[in-house]
Amino acid sequence: MEKTIFQKIIDHEIPASIVYEDDQCIAFDDIDPQAPTHCLIVPKQLIARLREAKKEHQALLGHLLLVAGEVARIKAIDPNGYRVVINCGRDGGETVPHLHVHLLGGRSLQWPPG
Ligand code: 5GP
Repeated sequence: MEKTIFQKIIDHEIPASIVYEDDQCIAFDDIDPQAPTHCLIVPKQLIARLREAKKEHQALLGHLLLVAGEVARIKAIDPNGYRVVINCGRDGGETVPHLHVHLLGGRSLQWPPG
């Protein structure tokens, strides 16, 4: 199977501005930021999207959210707040079939999203 673009970043085959990395996930700046801070937190284990996540991934999913909070601290956006988003499938706006958590902040974000 062809590697996803995120798998190539995980494998350090293509460059990314990496903010955080541990044995379970990697976080890096989005190439097309939608806010002053826009990072992606990506599990090293390939789960295509949230729809494909199973009970066995429960701890990993929790870890991704805790890392999102840690990245918010690293980026110094946690005092003012931020948004965490997972796009799933066509209507969710997913474009890369490798589960990832968006962390957005650094400006006031509108609700509801488009
Ligand atoms: P999705 O639409 O699937 O929820 O989010 C995919 C995100 O990946 C988009 O925000 C897009 O800008 C970002 N992205 C796509 N290709 C690359 C890349 O090569 N490098 C980085 N850093 N981000 C990427």
